[in-house]
Amino acid sequence: IPALSRAESLIRTVADYPKPGILFRDITPLLADAEALRVTTEALVAPFEGEFDVVAGIEARGFILAAAAAITAGVGMLPIRKAGKLPRPAASVDYDLEYGTATVEMHDDLPAGSRVLLIDDVLATGGTLEAGRVIVDRLGYRLAGISVLFEIDGLGGRDRIGDLHTVFRS
Ligand code: IMP
Repeated sequence: IPALSRAESLIRTVADYPKPGILFRDITPLLADAEALRVTTEALVAPFEGEFDVVAGIEARGFILAAAAAITAGVGMLPIRKAGKLPRPAASVDYDLEYGTATVEMHDDLPAGSRVLLIDDVLATGGTLEAGRVIVDRLGYRLAGISVLFEIDGLGGRDRIGDLHTVFRS
């Protein structure tokens, strides 16, 4: 689809950010473009049409895409936040980063059994989405699927997460 190819061309690769040797995929030029934002949002949810009740997004860039996807699909949105940001977290999951650990938290504002489509911007090692999957499960929600805008190959994310939909990959 030409509109999707055009959207892909708007993902900027920035060398040596946030550290030397890292190739950072910067989606902000894509977000800034009306058509690119629309077609990628549609591509994130299309394979899961009718299979989810709500979209969950992981802080921070996942929020942007999850909120857009929720509106596109006509459902609500659940934020998965870094520790300490939610007023009454119902679940908390620790996960490993390259250096140290991080924690995500979530509210339980929907009934257990709600079908959740989990969205993030970039898949690298898969640690973040794995934490998202665990916390969704811990709250008794059903994972309807995982959808990612950009998959970085070769960092093990695909092996770790397994079944997921990605719009673009390196
Ligand atoms: P992972 O946990 O190693 O898969 O890293 C994925 C998380 O880190 C996602 O939440 C992304 O937002 C962020 N991330 C990792 N690499 C990049 C990148 O190249 N561009 C933008 N975000 C990235």
